[in-house]
Amino acid sequence: MDNMQAPSVGGVRLPKGQGETIRLPRGASLTDFADKINANPASLVQVLFHLGEMVTATQSVSDEILELLGSEMNYVVQVVSPEEEDRELLETFDITYGEDAGDEDDLQVRPPVVTVMGHVDHGKTRLLDTIRKAKVHEGEAGGITQHIGAYQVETELEGNPRLITFIDTPGHEAFTAMRARGANATDIAVIVVAADDGVMPQTVEAINHAQAAQAPIVVAVNKIDKEGANPAKIRQQLTEYGLVAEEYGGDTMFVDISAKQGINIDSLLEAILLTADASLDLRANPAMEAQGVAIEAHLDRGRGPVATVLVQRGTLRVGDSIVAGDAYGRVRRMVDEHGDDVHDATPSRPVQVIGLTSVPRAGDSFLVVDEDRVARQIAERRQARTRNAANAAKRKRVSLEDLDAALKETSQLTLIIKGDNSGTVEALEDALMKIEVGDDVELRVVHRGVGGITEGDINLAVASSAIVLGFNVRAEGKATELANREGIDVRYYTVIYQAIDEIEAALKGLLKPEYEEVQLGRAEIRDVFKSSKVGTIAGCMVLSGEIRRNARARLLRDGKVIAENLPISSLKRFKDDATEVREGFECGLTLGNYSDLKLEDIIETYEMREKPRA
Ligand code: GDP
Repeated sequence: MDNMQAPSVGGVRLPKGQGETIRLPRGASLTDFADKINANPASLVQVLFHLGEMVTATQSVSDEILELLGSEMNYVVQVVSPEEEDRELLETFDITYGEDAGDEDDLQVRPPVVTVMGHVDHGKTRLLDTIRKAKVHEGEAGGITQHIGAYQVETELEGNPRLITFIDTPGHEAFTAMRARGANATDIAVIVVAADDGVMPQTVEAINHAQAAQAPIVVAVNKIDKEGANPAKIRQQLTEYGLVAEEYGGDTMFVDISAKQGINIDSLLEAILLTADASLDLRANPAMEAQGVAIEAHLDRGRGPVATVLVQRGTLRVGDSIVAGDAYGRVRRMVDEHGDDVHDATPSRPVQVIGLTSVPRAGDSFLVVDEDRVARQIAERRQARTRNAANAAKRKRVSLEDLDAALKETSQLTLIIKGDNSGTVEALEDALMKIEVGDDVELRVVHRGVGGITEGDINLAVASSAIVLGFNVRAEGKATELANREGIDVRYYTVIYQAIDEIEAALKGLLKPEYEEVQLGRAEIRDVFKSSKVGTIAGCMVLSGEIRRNARARLLRDGKVIAENLPISSLKRFKDDATEVREGFECGLTLGNYSDLKLEDIIETYEMREKPRA
């Protein structure tokens, strides 16, 4: 056979490469691939089909499939991760993120950055409050501090003044959310364990998260003032998790404290510094353009976007041009946790920055660049990338709106039905099957079941090009994310006739959707308190998106809708009113007069947006 001939699979002629390298972003589709090599996407779809993979042209495919397809056509496919893409973007501006410039001699000691983690109610928040009150600006009149997401305290070790930075959002959820974005802000983890309670599930989780991040651990055995406190038992329990106290020959420092009564707080700070000195080499170059991570950000009515950043290397100055994630701007003003102006912030210093043109996300990296123009260009390139990714996800495979087109190809509408009990699921399926749609269209239910919509359901929908109907149930866990990414149409109903009408209308090509529900955020209830003044308050952790005051909410228990159309009537971060609280942060909220709240219930907020007609 002639070597120069284009390869063919199953009779499909293929574009043939010369072994050149094709770079594709992770999650690229066959259309993206075809664009790079000037081929027809349909031919790539066919080739994959013959290789036993059924994918559509616009669906995002795995690294393996991209590579397999590449090798069939004599291309070397290099899948580029978003991090690599970003590194390359910065390289085009001659910027390296994440490394100290210069050599050993340029490095100076920086304070450790600490996150406090542990089981709920073991005293994390109280400990952060106590340290802040006891140590921040001792002697300053009033000494009132604001919550900006982190604060620094001054203490002493062996007669020398030393600083420690505390991330002011307790818990490992925020810590892990930041890590998921590639931000490793924490040097040391303080694990708080209540001496009257012992090691609990979240204690173990916190230990696992700290160890996964390779952050040395200091154990604060809290509530030793309480009756029944048994610090020795905590030490003994923790040996099981590889944390052996120094006094038992291990290398983990345990400090018995009372966050409430302020007992042994100095010893805890000392233990943090000793642990840092013994196991970490915390140094950074202060003489370079600043880089670090955004740890909290919000839109302030008066001041515009406000972001608290942790400087990790370099020195941040008023007037600097900065990029934080896909936000950019110039540092107009910096303030610390006391509301005092800061002119330059050195490594490990948290400061609130005013002057960005939009709000970055917690965990976004920030860096200073030479010129406003460069900052803007980097931000715009990142925005474009995010937009492309979102658009790619939006190219739905099958949705009720573009059913017309889909039916022309397949003459079949495939459904997955999930409901809150088997009676309604059957009733819905029966009713749908009775819709008169004529002979040329077939309605098929590939799966039905009781319970929330799972990732498994979405995967099945992907595999069978199905639309998912949820009757009185919602998507669980990461199912919504997966559905969005894969472009799966998931529809929710609470009234059977509405479901039937919509499907019927779609089948008859009459569907005129006007509004679509847009999910804004999900939060899990971690705590419930009753207040005589405001009613039932839910202490929540925001799992995804953001929770906004005045948004509409529904309450889910075990994946089932318990209540709909509730208002988020009050929202607080610690003691302050908040307009929005983002993913990874804790908040307190009330749902109007609604009081049937239980631990682990999910609060989902949404808004109805007008849907552009395709
Ligand atoms: P978190 O969920 O870990 O942030 O826990 P909190 O800081 O909210 O504390 C939970 C409860 O324990 C609160 O009522 C605190 O006042 C109480 N608490 C915290 N530390 C101590 C302590 O050292 N001694 C006593 N007796 N109570 C404490």
